[in-house]
Amino acid sequence: MPDDKNPLAQDRNRASRTRLVHGGTQRSGFGETSEAIFMNSGFSYPDSGAAEARFRGESEGHIYSRFSNPSVDMFQDRMAMLEGAEAARATATGMAAVTTALMAQLRAGDHVVASRALFGGCRFVIEDYLPRWGVNSTLVDGRDPENFASAMQKNTRAVFIETPTNPTLELVDIRAVADIAHAHGAKLVVDNVFATSVWQKPLQLGADLVVYSATKHIDGQGRALGGIILGSRELVEADIHTIIRQTGPSISPFNAWVMLKGLETLELRVEQMTRSAGKIADFLSAHPRVRRVFYPGNENHPQYDLARRQMQGGSNMIALEVDGNKQAAFECADALSVILISNNLGDAKSIISHPATTTHQRLSEEVRAELGIGDNLLRLSIGLEDVDDLIADLDFGLGKI
Ligand SMILES: *Cc1c(COP(=O)(O)O)cnc(C)c1O
Repeated sequence: MPDDKNPLAQDRNRASRTRLVHGGTQRSGFGETSEAIFMNSGFSYPDSGAAEARFRGESEGHIYSRFSNPSVDMFQDRMAMLEGAEAARATATGMAAVTTALMAQLRAGDHVVASRALFGGCRFVIEDYLPRWGVNSTLVDGRDPENFASAMQKNTRAVFIETPTNPTLELVDIRAVADIAHAHGAKLVVDNVFATSVWQKPLQLGADLVVYSATKHIDGQGRALGGIILGSRELVEADIHTIIRQTGPSISPFNAWVMLKGLETLELRVEQMTRSAGKIADFLSAHPRVRRVFYPGNENHPQYDLARRQMQGGSNMIALEVDGNKQAAFECADALSVILISNNLGDAKSIISHPATTTHQRLSEEVRAELGIGDNLLRLSIGLEDVDDLIADLDFGLGKI
């Protein structure tokens, strides 16, 4: 039995790296070291009275894995510790997390303000789906907080931002936007995928809810889809829990377990990827075939001061404009042999994508221009390979232009 007097017996006295390995673990009677996968849809009761009490909420315990499951609980608890959140609910995908977090804030007749530079699916939900349910939206250039202030209406109930943004790595001032949202009685929801919880903690900067696609850095090895919503007990355990319970965007216990194992190495991976990304951003900035590099960890990023204020690291994501057009971008990407062409990110494997023809293809040419997504833009997600190999690969690719 661990000694109760040992201060490290309590999670709150442990450092984040220790919590990422042990936080939230619930051992079964078998004393397994690695967390168990509770791959069951339902739970049985000792007698009918026990079932009745559990459904009435008079006794603790699981009922059905759409509502809760021990493996999912472990993932949620470990993530809540990392984020410094009171509560968390996992979902089947990142998009399920975004949609559920917004549904919980909005009713027909409400209005939402969002930054215009958003992950494709998020922009689709806000621009195309919410209006079907009577929720209108205003998209603004997120770089200047004043734009949010001017877009707020009497019925604005939610503000949704992503920072750094996909794919051009612009930043939004989380604290300033949180203050504006709160002054109007709206909740701020932050999609924190690009920065990760390792480098940015939106709840500490005033956000009400943080959402992740766990598919990205949290799994980090390209195996499973998942998402998670974090925030206060009041917001998460009431409406968000009920929406998941009643509409069913629940995560599979197996995927929750994959994410839980991913968390054990999250900090190590993200720190290593970020170190490599810093070196690669420097290499790209000095390359004659590269016109511009967008990297929040780089002093020449137009919002470098803000990056230093709200992020503890520059992230593993880089965007670059090659010297040329679409053909030049394709020539560079096609010549790479370590870096994969894919639209995923946050993976152990380095990835390159051409946003204008893939993730942002749906947008009109005007909107792409407004977002700075030119035909010569490439987005890189730096992985865990040897950084010199990655630099040599990129040097070879850029040489083909
Ligand atoms: C990938 C991603 C999502 C969606 O996550 P899925 O797990 O693919 O559903 C949302 N926001 C951002 C910023 C993402 O990168």
